[in-house]
Amino acid sequence: MKNRSSCGNMIKYQLVARGIIDEKVLKAFSSVPRHLFVPDEIRYLAYNDSPLSIGEGQTISQPYIVALMMQILELKESDKVLEIGTGSGYQTALLAEIATEVFTVERINSLIQKAENLLNDLGYKNIFYRFGDGTLGWKDGNPEQNKFDKIIVAAAAPDIPESLTSQLAMNGKLIIPTGNRTFQQLVVITRTEDGYIHTNEGGCTFVPLIGDEGWQE
Ligand code: SAH
Repeated sequence: MKNRSSCGNMIKYQLVARGIIDEKVLKAFSSVPRHLFVPDEIRYLAYNDSPLSIGEGQTISQPYIVALMMQILELKESDKVLEIGTGSGYQTALLAEIATEVFTVERINSLIQKAENLLNDLGYKNIFYRFGDGTLGWKDGNPEQNKFDKIIVAAAAPDIPESLTSQLAMNGKLIIPTGNRTFQQLVVITRTEDGYIHTNEGGCTFVPLIGDEGWQE
């Protein structure tokens, strides 16, 4: 009961009050129990207005920034989504509540294993997991058939990885924090018939994206 009211307050005061109005996003937040995605010792902080440590030097993102990124992406039921940086799996679950398929990549094996176990326990059947370097995206089979409607990167890159823009479907959107190690801008790239359109959605701070097309450690 306590968790339910904490979740309701999180949605009301952290999301709706700050301009999150996408009903699909709000419904997803009310369906996913955030407290199950944080370590036991800090479960009582799960619905706070902040990121939290999940071990291995990584964090579960602040609820508002996750909601904002999802709202900007304009997620649809028919979307095939690629997520880079599974972390706790919380955002993966939110995405899987809305989209038809979610492909998630994480570079720390213990984190993706834990997330996969939890998401399986919660009954998600539309999530595909991969341990590896997500700066390269999800390369499988025929690259022309393996494109994503939405790509969401939950870690900060020095530049936009070309592997990711090349895996965007026509009219698809990529959202990625881009900048230096301490401060970034949320950059959105939309693939159109006339090329890629970049927009800037404001400042943010994420853990670094480490890999071939990210930071080198
Ligand atoms: N969305 C997650 C946030 C995790 S923090 C959540 O809500 O819990 C970002 C994650 O990105 C970390 O787990 C980190 O290990 C991962 N990461 C960093 N570089 C990566 C890369 N190149 N490929 C895949 N994952 C990466």
